[in-house]
Amino acid sequence: MGLTIGVVGSGTAGACLINNLAAQLEQDDASAPRPGQILVFDDTKLWWRGRAYQDDGEYIWCNSPMKAMSVVHHDPDHGQAWLRAHNLPLTDPDTGQPTFLTRPAYGDYLHSATRQTIGRLENQGWTVRLVSEHATRLENTPHGVRLYTKSERAVCDLMSVSSFQEECADRP
Ligand SMILES: Cc1cc2nc3c(=O)[nH]c(=O)nc-3n(C[C@H](O)[C@H](O)[C@H](O)COP(=O)(O)OP(=O)(O)OC[C@H]3O[C@@H](n4cnc5c(N)ncnc54)[C@H](O)[C@@H]3O)c2cc1C
Repeated sequence: MGLTIGVVGSGTAGACLINNLAAQLEQDDASAPRPGQILVFDDTKLWWRGRAYQDDGEYIWCNSPMKAMSVVHHDPDHGQAWLRAHNLPLTDPDTGQPTFLTRPAYGDYLHSATRQTIGRLENQGWTVRLVSEHATRLENTPHGVRLYTKSERAVCDLMSVSSFQEECADRP
């Protein structure tokens, strides 16, 4: 059985992790690990958008141009390619400056790029399971990191924790 990789949080950091992990696995045939499973934990209906890039209104813009917001570290053109594929301009027609997206539109990019990448990982034999629950506890064990949610627990060989908000019953 291959590695089990746990990912806590499906915001920008979780999306970048999945996209860069896939890029690394695709690059490195000789030493790539055998396909295993990736378990992503987040209690959200809007996967891969995190806090900042919800589908909440076109009135707030990202503070960096799309050409500086690629989700693939070694591929700065990745975001530009997404703009081209969606028939969006690379530069603002009025100012000639590089395109800035609204936060929901950038969320669309994060979501669609990551869904596509998950499809590629699955084609390579990886299982990617999205668990719609918050992680509630992590525990180091000799066999890996044991992660708990309200209803399940999993032992992960590798663990990425981008965010760990604790659930609190009396928090408003
Ligand atoms: C309103 C706003 C606007 C921003 N605008 C910009 C911008 O224009 N340009 C820019 O570069 N940066 C911007 N930022 C900053 C940028 O969004 C953050 O740096 C980045 O999103 C952080 O990513 P993250 O994955 O760590 O956290 P988030 O995107 O916040 O994602 C964290 C995820 O983890 C989940 N989570 C938390 N606890 C748990 C748990 N216990 N178990 C499972 N899942 C859990 C949450 O539900 C969430 O989905 C903005 C931030 C905000 C809040």
